Amino acid sequence: MNEHIAQLKKIDNEIQLLQHTNAVLGWDQETLMPQEAISERSEQLSLLGGIIHERETSSEIGDLLGKLGAGDENPLGSEELEPSDRAFVRAVYQDYVRLTRIPVDLVRRLTKKASVGQAAWAKARQDSDFAAFAPHLNDLIELALETSECLGYTDHPYDALLDQYEPGMTTADVAGVFAELKEGLVPLVAAIADAQQVNDRVLKREYPEELQETFGREVLKAIGFSGDRGRLDTSVHPFTTSLGSDDVRLTTRYDRSHFPTSLFGIIHEGGHGMYEQGFDRAYHGTRLADGTSLGIHESMSRFWENVVGRSRPFWEHYYPRFRQLFPEQTEDVDLDEFYRAINKVEPSLIRVEADEVTYSLHIILRFELEQQMVSKSVSTNDLPDAWRSLSKDLLGIVPERDADGVLQDIHWSMGGIGYFPTYALGNVYGLQFVGAMKAQLHEFDALLRAGELAPVKAWLDENIHRHGRAKLPKELCMDISGAELSAKPFLAYLRNKYREIYRLSGV
Ligand code: ZN
Repeated sequence: MNEHIAQLKKIDNEIQLLQHTNAVLGWDQETLMPQEAISERSEQLSLLGGIIHERETSSEIGDLLGKLGAGDENPLGSEELEPSDRAFVRAVYQDYVRLTRIPVDLVRRLTKKASVGQAAWAKARQDSDFAAFAPHLNDLIELALETSECLGYTDHPYDALLDQYEPGMTTADVAGVFAELKEGLVPLVAAIADAQQVNDRVLKREYPEELQETFGREVLKAIGFSGDRGRLDTSVHPFTTSLGSDDVRLTTRYDRSHFPTSLFGIIHEGGHGMYEQGFDRAYHGTRLADGTSLGIHESMSRFWENVVGRSRPFWEHYYPRFRQLFPEQTEDVDLDEFYRAINKVEPSLIRVEADEVTYSLHIILRFELEQQMVSKSVSTNDLPDAWRSLSKDLLGIVPERDADGVLQDIHWSMGGIGYFPTYALGNVYGLQFVGAMKAQLHEFDALLRAGELAPVKAWLDENIHRHGRAKLPKELCMDISGAELSAKPFLAYLRNKYREIYRLSGV
């Protein structure tokens, strides 16, 4: 048994080395690579991707998994194995099954269609011409259904798609959490819309990029991101990637006339980065040193960005320093006005610009449409109208152009149906964890007020980061909070925070 585990770990280690090498090429492409290098880079990435896929699906892995007793009924393998080895077997089994159940021919068609679809989408969005994208979207939905049939599901074809991004989570699970969320958010957004809007003039001033960077780096260090085991650079689309467990790369972009883009972007990516830096050393070089799901990853980034970075106690500590760097921009703006400005809520058409309160509604809209697409209860041609009608119900506003509606996101064009829910699940997981954190770190607000963020990061390291993929999202949630995922803690947090910011009564 032990030699089989050792052999599986050896194979896995080489796959992880190849994955990280692949990530170096990807990171470079987004940050430093000269424009003309794109076609050679694509060839390099595609070759390496092929090699990784071959290794991931090799019959040797299948044989070893069999010898270790792993199967659909028993993904953890033999009970004789150490608990951490069983978690490792489960992670290998999960990936192996997912990758081998999708035939090579389907993978090829998916990759091809995603590339064509993306180009068609970019053009269609530019022209706000949904009809030009519709046939591609149709094909992508068909391919998603084919994928779902290969992967298998018990209840809804959407289950299999969702499971690729949020292992163990079903459509019914998400629908339950989102129904709760919708019921709480819609009246809260309406109450805020009736209240007097906050003054956000401080956001509209010019902030020199160099000083934004100075402040952003100070905050990144303070929250606990290790500069010895990672870097911050710039790119058009901010992201986090790991070139190794001791080499975590973050990117941001600076906008002179909108400082929150970089500041909250850095804190957000910093949250992703600290998760990646926090895996147990014993897991390094294995696939357990990875986020357990996109939703959990997003819970870490959103926790730092919103619960910490947009909180009053945090700014009680940092606003004096911010004013020191930007004296003219903040001269006539006190802490209270600043705090309200960075928490301004306003229903808007574009998801990526949405605030903490309305954001999840954008996701619920997409989740509802995706289910209808997959079960074919809406035809592709009717999607723009379906989008407008849901937007009206959920956000109270309707896009005039499809570019600001059904065409706004890249995800579907890349075949990423089932991905969206993870964003909102991140909000929900995050606050469920905060409940347990606050019970243990009694003085949470006082720590933030004192700028002492190390105990907060240490709590996350201990309870979340270090486990990597050794715990599934549901296990993590249960172990930390003693309960299944619920939208209640997140809704309570929002009501509490925005009641005060918008001076609401009766919410
Ligand atoms: Zn994120």
